[in-house]
Order: sequence, then structure tokens, then C-alpha cells
Amino acid sequence: MQTRIDPRALTRELLAFNTINPPGMERACARHLGAVLEDAGFEVAYHEFAESRTSLIARIGGASKPPICFTGHIDTVPLGAARWSRDAFAGETDGDKLYGRGSTDMKSGIAAFVAAAVELAAHLRHGPGIVIVITAGEEIGCEGAKYLADRRLLDRAGAIVVAEPTANYPYVGHKGLAWFEVETTGVTAHGSMPEVGDNAIVKMARVIGDLEDFHFPVESHGVMGRPTLNVGTIRGGLNTNSVPDRATITLDTRTVPGIDHAHLCRSLESLLAPRGAHVRPLVDTPPLYTDPANEWVQQVFEACTPFLDARPTPKTITFSTDGADLKRGFGGPPAVVLGPGEPKLAHQTDEWCSIHRIEQSKELFATLMRRWCEA
Ligand SMILES: [Zn+2]
Repeated sequence: MQTRIDPRALTRELLAFNTINPPGMERACARHLGAVLEDAGFEVAYHEFAESRTSLIARIGGASKPPICFTGHIDTVPLGAARWSRDAFAGETDGDKLYGRGSTDMKSGIAAFVAAAVELAAHLRHGPGIVIVITAGEEIGCEGAKYLADRRLLDRAGAIVVAEPTANYPYVGHKGLAWFEVETTGVTAHGSMPEVGDNAIVKMARVIGDLEDFHFPVESHGVMGRPTLNVGTIRGGLNTNSVPDRATITLDTRTVPGIDHAHLCRSLESLLAPRGAHVRPLVDTPPLYTDPANEWVQQVFEACTPFLDARPTPKTITFSTDGADLKRGFGGPPAVVLGPGEPKLAHQTDEWCSIHRIEQSKELFATLMRRWCEA
């Protein structure tokens, strides 16, 4: 039975697994973590939403109040078009920097809480304990987390720490993310006789104009600010000398609590219906938010203070996470986004994580685990 794990060494082990999504293929990486946790006395269950797309849930303890959950995703984004100056899978180090795809987002975060959990395993066994949720498929629509929540595989948790890259600053949530495709159709004709056809691109131009006047049902949120809408892509037409009979755009909306995504889709549909446009949801990640006055959130703020310049103030982070789906699956406990990675470096060429922060993070997570189990 292992009782001590170096979180830096574990991060390097995780970096060696190529879990670039697509295609993901997280099984080997998940099994590696599962073996480490089983060895420390955790009960481990694997759940695949598709072949080799493996998430895992590991539990220890479970008496009295619900456990505290630590979560992270093992998939990463692709390397990108630019050449890396470092090997993306070898865990190269240079001073305080540990390089690799997923070093910041977010294999270091997983390594930090797994290392803390293994070290405290003997102690955690007797109290409320902890539940560790490692997900596959986060980078494309939180597929792994949705699978676990939809199939009711999560049981219960009293609080959630999402160890995404925050440079160890605790954030109380993030906006929701709802992507849509909007389609207009028409009738094709020879480009010399546009009056015979019905131009789908012209219709789409009007749709985009209409979207400028779209109002969200909630205009602003005290901590998150305003919801946003961006037209991200536009496609239409096959050749210059034909009237196009189809055009599509994709919309990226970022929502705040109080905006229901199904309702948002219907609002867009009714706004655009007079143009003959159809709206189809593409990606749906709800907002995540916990009132900063929550007692446990205040404890987290206090635990983070020694690692920051000052006591944290309530803020939300710009990216979205598995947290919202997991919170739903766990019945709505408070959640924070808190991890060692550098938020600026997520998805970048030559991504790296500060080794110092990984060690801090392990200490911080161990403190949160101990406090949860003592209280
Ligand atoms: Zn991430």
C-alpha cells in the first residue's frame, strides 16, 4: 500500500498518456489513476460513455455526513498548429516549469488531489470521506460528467472542488455555455437569374441583424456580469454563380444563473422564426455558481489565503467546467473551481504548470480534506 505520492511525479506519469480529445481515449490514463487509488484503499468504479472513453469514481469513508468531492478531467485539447519547443508528453522540466499538454489543464490538478487523498487515506476511511471523480471527454461538451450525472452514478457529495487551472485562487463559479447552430434554407437557381431562386445567405444576413437586438431574460449577475452572444462561424453557398439554398451560423452564448438553456433556445427560435430560420442546440453546459457567503466557501477562502497575496474576493472564472453537471448529479452542493494550473496557459503551445504551485495545491487540498472530515 502506497502512502506517499509525489504530485509532480504523478503529473509527469499522467502527461505520458496521450488523451488528446478528439479522440480522447482516456481508458489507460483512467486505469492508471484507478490503480493508484485502489492501492491506497479506495473503492474504484469505471464508467465508459463510449468505447475507451473512461471516467472513474473512487470513494473512501462515507460515515455520517456526505463526502467532499474532488474532480478533474483527464482529456486534453489537441497540440495546435504551431510547433512546440518541448516534448508535449515527456514531462520536461525547466526550473519551476513542468511542460506538457495537460500540465496546466488539468493533469497537475488531478495529481495534486490524488496525492493528497492517498496520503490521508487511512484517516479518511473513518469519517465522511471523499469521493474522487475523474472524467473523460470534458473538452468537448463535458460528455463524461453528463454521463455520470444523467445515469445517477454520483450518489452524494457535500461540496465539490473542481481542480481546473486557477493558480490556486478559489473561484465561486463560471458562466454557462450554450452553443447553437442556426440554419436558413432557400431555393437554388442560376446566378444570372436570382429572381427565380430564394437566397439563404441573404436571409441569414437578416438573421444576424435580428440577433443584434436579442435580449437575454437576465441582463446581469452581481458577480458574473452580463451574458454574451457571439456569432462564431458562418457558412453558405457552393459556387459564385448559383443562388445558395442553405446557410448556417453558429452562436456561442455565455449565460448567467437564471437563464435556462432550453428556454433560451426557444427564445432564439421565436425571434428568428419570421426569417424561416431553425435553431439547433450544439453544446450545453449550465452556469456554475455558489453564494460566496456559504460557510464552506468561506473556509476555502481562508485555507487559500496563505498562498495568495490577500484573502480572496468573490470572482468567477471565464472558462466552463464539468462542475455544473456534477453539481446537478450530486444534488446541488456548493462548489469552487480551484487548482494549480495557470489559467493563461490552458490550451496554449508549450503549456506548462508551476511545480511550486502543484506542491502548494496538494497541501491546500489536504487541508480541505482534513477540515471536511473533522468538522
Ligand atoms: Zn480543463
